[in-house]
Amino acid sequence: MIGDGMGVSQVYAGMTANKGSLYLEKSQFVGLSKTYSADRYITDSAAGGTAIATGTKTNNGAIGVDPDGNPVKSILEYAAENGLSTGVVASCAITHATPASFVAHQPKRGMQEEIAVDFLNSDITLFIGGGKRYFNDRSDSVDLLPKLAEKGFQLAFTMDEVKELTEGRLAALVADEHQASYPERGEFLPESVMAAINLLKGNEKGFFLMVEGSQIDWAGHANDTEATVNEMLDFDRAIKVAFDYADQDPNTLVVITADHETGGMALTGGDLSTGEVEGTFATTGHSSVMVPVFAYGAGSEAFAGIYENTDILAKLLSLYGF
Ligand SMILES: [Zn+2]
Repeated sequence: MIGDGMGVSQVYAGMTANKGSLYLEKSQFVGLSKTYSADRYITDSAAGGTAIATGTKTNNGAIGVDPDGNPVKSILEYAAENGLSTGVVASCAITHATPASFVAHQPKRGMQEEIAVDFLNSDITLFIGGGKRYFNDRSDSVDLLPKLAEKGFQLAFTMDEVKELTEGRLAALVADEHQASYPERGEFLPESVMAAINLLKGNEKGFFLMVEGSQIDWAGHANDTEATVNEMLDFDRAIKVAFDYADQDPNTLVVITADHETGGMALTGGDLSTGEVEGTFATTGHSSVMVPVFAYGAGSEAFAGIYENTDILAKLLSLYGF
């Protein structure tokens, strides 16, 4: 689970607004990840997502390729190859940098139409997010929606349609571009995590699911403390859904981290009894600081310590036994 732009200040802003605690505190082990990219001291979400997904530091803007442009295999692809079910869920366009890093291989994050084709041609079991226009309103006039159906994906365009499904492949595109911010988009994220787990858990070999709380980052870019808190608490409710499943199936590991911090956020005031929190920001861009890694469940001890963002892949591969 990736909170885009979620540094320790964003976590503690949510914790303060929630009067002192978050569901994610149930994590048994905590580490710190170094996020710099192959070509920049400060990463973007493409290089950050690619590092987490593939274990490869790449240049900012690159999706699932190394600095020379060669495709590198993601944890989702390893899982699919080994017969596991796989999925991605994001509270933004599914073709956006973070979810794309787990599925696509393109030199530039802006190539969202090409990234949509990579989703079509992938072995992924399900995806739930926005970005419908990159599938059906494309510059090449090709409609990828019937092609998705031909590949066995059930199509859904609303959360009600998503919730009706109990098995099979799923392509859920609930917004033309991005979903609204929280609270306008409602319980999209926790509900999508629940729906995704229900669809994926039937595979006896197991599953891999990437969930992005996408808009924590946008709140940081906007230097907006209230939006940061709203998105952080929404992400935390999605975390609770994953933890609840891990409690039912003790072979489950939940890892929660970020691709980078956004905004250079600092908390300069607050009140744990009222939930009031005062944030200030050092930049409207990303910052370079290490980000937290929280781990819960089977194998969680592997995530204690200080390490490169690229080490997360090796830890996951070894725990899965691939
Ligand atoms: Zn950003």
